[in-house]
Amino acid sequence: MNLTRLPGPDGAPHFARDLGDGTARWLAPGPWPKPETVRGAAFPIPADERLAPIEPPDIFCIGLNYRRHAAEMGSDLPEHPVVFMKPGSALNHPGAPIVIPAGEMDGPETDSEAELAVVMGMKNGRPARDVSVDEALDYVLGYTCGNDVSARRWQKQGGGGQWCRGKGFDSFCPLGPVLVTADALDPGNLAITGRLNGEVMQSSHTRDLIFSVAEIVSFLSRDTTLRPGSVILTGTPEGVGVARDPQVFLRDGDVVEVEIEGVGTLRNPVISAETRAAAAGDA
Ligand code: ZN
Repeated sequence: MNLTRLPGPDGAPHFARDLGDGTARWLAPGPWPKPETVRGAAFPIPADERLAPIEPPDIFCIGLNYRRHAAEMGSDLPEHPVVFMKPGSALNHPGAPIVIPAGEMDGPETDSEAELAVVMGMKNGRPARDVSVDEALDYVLGYTCGNDVSARRWQKQGGGGQWCRGKGFDSFCPLGPVLVTADALDPGNLAITGRLNGEVMQSSHTRDLIFSVAEIVSFLSRDTTLRPGSVILTGTPEGVGVARDPQVFLRDGDVVEVEIEGVGTLRNPVISAETRAAAAGDA
C-alpha cells in the first residue's frame, strides 16, 4: 500500500492512500494504528502537490553504512552504526528546491546522498524501545526515498566534523514521493540509484548495507523511544560527489534524483540561496 500526503480542502496536510493510477483517497484518521481506513471517493492527485509523506518528530541518520562507500571515503568499517541527526526544519518535499546555503565557509560544497528512508510505526499501539533485531521490523510503518543533502565543508572541516550542521540546513532532507508500507517491501533487497541531471552517480543495492534495517532499528531503540513517524536515513552507497575525481558538487539549476526499487523517484531541483534571494527581490 502506498501512502502520500497532500494539502486537503482545508489547506492543511492530510494523509491519503495513493491508488497508483494518479488518484488517491483520504485516510481516516491517518496512518496509525493501521493505515487501512479510507473515506470519500477517489480524487486525482494534483500535479506537484505531493508533500513529504511524513512529518517526522525525529530524523535519525546513519553514516558509513555501505561497504563500498566506506571504502571510497577511506574509512574503516564501523563497529556500531554511526548516528547523527537532522533537525525537523531540514524536511523538504518532492519537487521542492534544495537550497545551497549562502556563503557558508567560502562555498559549502553541497552534495547529494541517495538513501533508503525508514518510517517508524508502532506494534500493538507501542512505539519501538529496546526491541530485538528479530522484532524490529514489526515496528516499521514503511519506507520512502530520502536525500541526505550534505554541505561537505561543514561536515568535514567546520571544527573537526560538524555533521549535524553540515547536513542540517533548511531543505537538506527531501523525502518521498510516497511511503510504501512495510508489508510490501524487503528493505534488504532493493536497488538504489542516485542521479544528477539524469546521469547515474550512485548505483547500488541494499544488500551492500553494513548494518541491516532491523539491526539499525534495534540499535537506535536501546534506551531510546523511536516515536511513530520518526525517520531513519540508512546511509548512502558509493558514488557521492565528494569522493569523485574531480569532485562534483551541486550547482544552481541542477536536478537530483533518488530512485529506490518498489518506491519510485524523488526528484528535487537545486537553487542557490543567492539566486533564490534575487528572484524573491524581483517578485
Ligand atoms: Zn548520508
